[in-house]
This record gives sequence, C-alpha cells and structure tokens, in this order.
Amino acid sequence: MKIQEQIEHLREELRQHNYNYYVLDNPVISDFEFDQKLKELEKLEEEHPEFYDDNSPTQRVGGQVVKTFNTVTHKERMYSLSNSYSKDDLEDWVKRIRKTIEGDLEFTCELKYDGASINLTYENNKFVRAVTRGDGFQGDDVSHNVRTIKSLPLVIKGEHLPENFDVRAEIVLPFEGFMKMNEERMSEGLEPYANPRNTASGSLKLQDSSEVSKRPLECLIYGISANNVEQETHFDVLSILRQNKFNVPKEVKRCKTVEEVLEFINIWDTKRYDLPYETDGIVIKVNNLNQQFELGHTSKAPRWAIAYKFKAEEAKTKLEKITYQVGRTGAITPVANLEPVVISGTTVKRASLHNADQIAKLDIREGDTVYVEKGGEIIPKITAVDFSQRNAHSQPTEYITHCPECGTALVRDEGEAVHYCPNTMSCPPQVMGKIQHFISRKAMDIDGIGSETVVALVNAGLINDYADLYELQQRDVQNLDRMAEKSAKNLIAGIEASKNQPFEKVLFALGIRFVGETVAKTLAKKFKTLDNIINADFELLISTDEIGDRIAQSVIDFFKDENNATIVDRLKTHGLTFEIEEQENSSNALDGLKIVLSGIFKKYDRKELKALIEKHGGKNVSSISKNTHYFLAGDNVGPSKLEKVNKLKIPTISEYDLENMINNGA
Ligand code: AMP
Ligand code: ZN
Repeated sequence: MKIQEQIEHLREELRQHNYNYYVLDNPVISDFEFDQKLKELEKLEEEHPEFYDDNSPTQRVGGQVVKTFNTVTHKERMYSLSNSYSKDDLEDWVKRIRKTIEGDLEFTCELKYDGASINLTYENNKFVRAVTRGDGFQGDDVSHNVRTIKSLPLVIKGEHLPENFDVRAEIVLPFEGFMKMNEERMSEGLEPYANPRNTASGSLKLQDSSEVSKRPLECLIYGISANNVEQETHFDVLSILRQNKFNVPKEVKRCKTVEEVLEFINIWDTKRYDLPYETDGIVIKVNNLNQQFELGHTSKAPRWAIAYKFKAEEAKTKLEKITYQVGRTGAITPVANLEPVVISGTTVKRASLHNADQIAKLDIREGDTVYVEKGGEIIPKITAVDFSQRNAHSQPTEYITHCPECGTALVRDEGEAVHYCPNTMSCPPQVMGKIQHFISRKAMDIDGIGSETVVALVNAGLINDYADLYELQQRDVQNLDRMAEKSAKNLIAGIEASKNQPFEKVLFALGIRFVGETVAKTLAKKFKTLDNIINADFELLISTDEIGDRIAQSVIDFFKDENNATIVDRLKTHGLTFEIEEQENSSNALDGLKIVLSGIFKKYDRKELKALIEKHGGKNVSSISKNTHYFLAGDNVGPSKLEKVNKLKIPTISEYDLENMINNGA
C-alpha cells in the first residue's frame, strides 16, 4: 500500500471507531488497540508532513456532540492526553520538556480514573453548570444530571479559590453500584451492562435526572481551569480543592525522577484492583503551574502531562465453540467457549457474546482467534477477531433459529436485541429456572430447598411449576436420592413457611419478565392486591411512577396467559399472600400530609422520622412550597428556610408534636 493510502485508511478506520465510542457509546475494539492504531497514524503523519490534514483523527479529541442537550462551548478547551506505555516513552517525554524548562522539575502522579470527563463551572462559590467533554471544544450541558451526584459540592466556601473557575473531573460508576445495577437488570430478565465506564457516560445522557440520581455515580476531581489561581503547584491546587470539600482522591504523589514515577506506576498496577472504581493508568503532570504554562499544548494535548496506560488485560485465544444458554424467561444468550487463557491472574474459558447483532457486527466464527478482555471483576468479553488467522474455509456464524433445549422456534420481538424461546411451560431450563427463581432468597426465600433439589424434583416428575411445590408430600420427597427424612421434613416446613412472605416478594417470585425487585415493590405499593394488578389496564399501569410501556405490556401478557392464570389461582388456594398487609401500628393519622424536615433532632434521626411519617400515611417532601402542610423542625434550622416557612405561614412542629398528632389521630 502506498503511504498516502495507508494514512487515509487508518484515518477512516479511526473515525469509525471514534464514532462507535463517542457517539454510539459502543466500542468494538479495545482502548489499547485503538491507541496503538492512533500512534501508528501519528508516527506516519510525523514522518510525512506533506500529508497533513486538519481533519485527521490525530487533530481532534474525538467525538461529535449528541444533540438533545444544550451545546455549550468550553471556556478553555478540554484536551486529550498523550499516552505512554514504557519507561522509554516517559524518558522521551521528560527530554522534550527539558528543551523548554531549565532548573528544578517536579511531577505529580495521579490515578487515571476511567469514566466520563466533565467540566464543572463554579461562580461565586456556587455550582452553575456541568458540560461533557464532547469534541473538546464544546460539549453537552448535563447539569441536571450531575447535580444529582451526592459527593459533588454544590455550594462551597471558596477559600483560596478564584471567584469564578472551572474544575475538571471524571464521573465514574464504582464497581459495587455497577454490580448492583446489573443484578437488578438480570433479575428483570435484561441483559447486563457491559462495563462501568459506558454506563457512567450513558447515565449522563439520560433525560430523567431522577433516574440518574438512583445511580451511585461519583465525581472525582483532578484539576482546575482558571486564570488567577493563588497556588504555585498542581499539588497545592488539589489540596485546596480537597479543603473546599471537592472529592479529590488521595492517591497523589510528588516525584522528582522517572524512577520514582515508575515506582508509583508499579504499585498501582496491582493495587488498583482494591480500588472501588476502575482506573486505566496513571497521569503524570508537571507540578509547577508556571512551568505548565510555559510548556503549553500541542494541537491535541498538553505538553506538561502524559498518561501512562496500564497494559490492557487482554489475551488472544481460540474460540472453540459457540453455545446457547436459555434463561428462566426464555432469553437466549450466546456463549463463546474458549481455549482456556489466563488474563490478569484468572483463567477465562467462557465469554458472553450478548446477542445475534453482536456476533454479526464483529463477524465472530467458531475456530477464530479472538481478543478477549477482562477488567477487574467484569465479565470477560470478546473485543475483536484476528482476521489474519482465520481459516480460509470458515463460514459466517448462523444464529440458531430453534431452542437448543426444546426445539421450539425462537421469536424476536420488534426492537429487541434478544431472541426468546416462547415455550415457557415445558422448556426445561425455563421450567427449572422459574422454580429456582421462585425459591431464591430475594423471592420466596424457601429454607431447606436449593437449586439442586429443584433439579432433582423436576427430573423425578414431582414438580413442573412453582405451584406444584405447595402440593408436595413429605413421603414423595423422601423417596428422592440422598434425601433423608429430616431434610424432607425441613423442605416441607420451609415451603409452608413461605406462605407468610409479603406480597411484593410473591409478586417478584412469579418471575414476570422485566419485573425485578424494585418494580415488584412499586406495583405492590400502588395496587395493594394482585387482583388490582390483574384488572389494571395498560393506561393505569403506565400511570404508575417508574412503570414504562415495556413493563406494563409484560405484566398484561403474563396474566393473560392461561397457564399463568391457572398457576396463580392455585397459589391463591394454597394461601400465599396476595395483598399488602397493613403494617403493624400504622394508621392514616397523617393521610395526605406533606411534611418538610430540617435541622438536627433529639429522639429520632431523619430516616426514622421519614419512616414514621410514611407509616402513618404522610409524605416527607424535600422542599418548602405553598403545598407543604407542616414544617418539622429540629435544632439549627438554617435562616433562609425559616424565612420561607414564615413567609408561607407553614405551621412549625417538633418531633414530639408529630408523635402527638399520630397518637391522637391528628
Ligand atoms: P484520554 O481520554 O485517554 O485522551 O485521556 C484524557 C482523559 O483522561 C481526560 O479527559 C480526563 O477525563 C481523564 N482523566 C482521568 N483521570 C485523570 C487525571 N487524574 N488527570 C487528568 N485527566 C484524567
Ligand atoms: Zn426452549
């Protein structure tokens, strides 16, 4: 290939990857590979300045602005960072700096947080705006979403900070919250999110900020952008920001030499797995701010900073076979069975292929050599195929058309990526899966029976659906292999006890597609009885907070199904709980009253007060308006709140007044 063609080809390829990554939020190659390609292009362009092009991916940070949000121009451009991968790269970087800077040189090392970058504007000690990086020049105004991040200070003291300034930060989703969100999704029969970074940046682009507020996002601060900072060094800036209650991680070190920098890198290359969030490298910065200014920027990155990328935890291996799993809701998941390979200390044998589209997009075939990536605790995934090693006779993968377990023709609803096996009543993994879900801890929580027992009971022909559990006899169970009399007794007792599980657990246990724990709670609370849910039409269902079209349709479909209706009727005759039981000591004493809490209380804490109010029919609201009925005040209520309360003539009560209202029926 001629050099010019080669350059054009790389540019085109990188543009496509940029688009996948920044606009579609759906990268198909790993960051490591992308960086390698970009470096290759950078090198070629450097060697052949005659092919310079303004529009080259090397000349921009990447990404187009997705509309729907207001586009805001950054006061100061948000640059990318140059990357380094070795000691040599770092030494070259220092050499380049040395051409400009004489005298003492000091660096700071920080972790490179792997999330979505954001610019936060503060004016007169108040947060005013959050804008995504976008293409580096302009981004999306996502203030309403960022405001919901609990660790971000919205009002600051502003000590030793300029009147107006921007801070630069990374929005991340810590592993724990990410795993929880995925558990929830899977309990609703949905495909899990791929990784925390995409989920974090996806969250910022949600339209409903209340949805965002439920996601445990963190905002990690790493710098300031302002004309007139008092401090002389980046390190001091971070300290001052921390003093002003910004969430600046403490893992920062000052270094004088490349050796010291490497020491920091080596420590964190392994220790990073103990961090609550994902990191993909170290950022090294020139500490002195005057020196930073002197060094300035290239067309895409500051000269005074460089990222050191941890080796992508990636390996090449052979894809031996694609198999298909059937979940309890009938969802089909294609699985890559791999020649075992060790990635970051663990042996990987399987990776999810998600769905038919994913297989087609990456053109994955059995026998291919594939790249597998595994980060922290994330499910391994296949990022690409090494086409150079493909067998000349290989054929494109044909997705299955029939269920591998029961042979039924698969269906795929419009707009859905996933195929389903519609044979809910006799497809074995669906039959087992539904019962296993039913007995699980978060559902009916049946003691004395585990997943294995379910398999044994189904295989022995003793049960075929979860209603059958309630018709089991101890003597039948006892006849099972390895089932002692005592265990059989426990099993029956556990099933009996489950009749006391509250309604919302029963509703969750039914295993309605898209009805996870939270949705089940919401439905139970609003409709109070199962019959009310069954009789509700689509309009009524979607008028419920947090219940969308998809959930509503799924609920309707579930109860419309005759088999399900029969099973539910049988459960009713067995005495399971199908309505909300009024809580002990609850009343309607505060029915419909909106109460605002403020200050520090003596007898109860805020959570307890909120619970108390709700138990008696009231509602704890957060801001004072003319619709507020009572202002429940503790000590140290802020003057502005008091002023508002007085102005709107809202009666103020104490926690003891509240108790009296409850006891005397208001
Ligand atoms: P890249 O996206 O690979 O070009 O890297 C640049 C991005 O790294 C910046 O836009 C930041 O969002 C992000 N980043 C994460 N941690 C840091 C840090 N400690 N200092 C500077 N940038 C960081
Ligand atoms: Zn099937």
